[in-house]
Amino acid sequence: MSTSDITTKTIEGYAAQKVGALLELFQYDCPQVGPWDIEVEITHCGLCHSDLHLIQNDWGGSTYPLLPGHEIIGIVKQKGSLVQELEIGMRVGIGWQGSSCGKCEWCHQGEENLCLKQEATCVGHFGGFANKIVADSRFAFPIPEPLDSVNAAPLLCGGATVFSPLLQHNVDATMKIGVVGVGGLGHLAIQFAKALGCEVFVFSSSPEKEAEAKKFGAHHFLSSTHPNAENLVDLLLYTSSGSVDAKSYLKLLRPKGKLVIMGAPKDQQVDLEVFDLIVGRKTVCGSNIASAPVIRKMLQFAALHGIEAQTELFAMQDINLALEKLANNEIHYRAVLEN
Ligand SMILES: [Zn+2]
Ligand SMILES: [Zn+2]
Repeated sequence: MSTSDITTKTIEGYAAQKVGALLELFQYDCPQVGPWDIEVEITHCGLCHSDLHLIQNDWGGSTYPLLPGHEIIGIVKQKGSLVQELEIGMRVGIGWQGSSCGKCEWCHQGEENLCLKQEATCVGHFGGFANKIVADSRFAFPIPEPLDSVNAAPLLCGGATVFSPLLQHNVDATMKIGVVGVGGLGHLAIQFAKALGCEVFVFSSSPEKEAEAKKFGAHHFLSSTHPNAENLVDLLLYTSSGSVDAKSYLKLLRPKGKLVIMGAPKDQQVDLEVFDLIVGRKTVCGSNIASAPVIRKMLQFAALHGIEAQTELFAMQDINLALEKLANNEIHYRAVLEN
């Protein structure tokens, strides 16, 4: 194992001690750096809606103290003996997925996000709202030089989540792509679809977002309940956290179109009728984060095309202020914490 100039034995971060609590200063013993691990000094961490859901235990299974954060950017300070690609001093990013079994068919074919034994960076582990983290190097990705750390942090979860279905569903430049919701995920989805050369439709119930949606690359901006809004897109990315009114969204699809759900509404319900699927042979499906190879491609693609998140920057110690603004939908696209 390589030696490091960091000798501190504790990691300091911000954790919730119980469901829904404000985050408080929290220390834990720095785990040993295993053969595949790296120790990362965190410079930035994005704030994702999932962090809020974890703190509130909206999905069940949260354990406390809970130290969230999974859109991490930092510098490698130590590395294990088997780590080859990453070097000390490199800037890396770490997203939602922290590990996988490495042995199953999904891991073997580079779809680690489908591994049944996968673990998340900040579920059952302490996450990125901290000064350091010890992470599995196989889920840490070099950040291409052109990307700014602040605006790249949200790519690690938000960006990966919206880029992955565009590859899964073989999107090409002749296709018409729809995006529901112009928020943390949606504003990145618009940029990726535009850069892939597609005609981009944005569906939103907030007319005031039209100018910004078009600035991100949307060609069309419509209300999803507009009477003429039908038969428009081949792939519709649902990025909102509101209830999924699939009946209205399936109407927006062209024949053979697909509705891909990646926003997780609190009620967790999808409302649809069978004939909305049968007529036009339509599909409703989901998508979860992205595999390691897709995250690598996404970062390269973002660097090449100048795709980055629009962010509001907070000092790490102002984490509770950032969380409150996120809960009130007051963040202009994505909050990022800085150490
Ligand atoms: Zn996330
Ligand atoms: Zn596996």
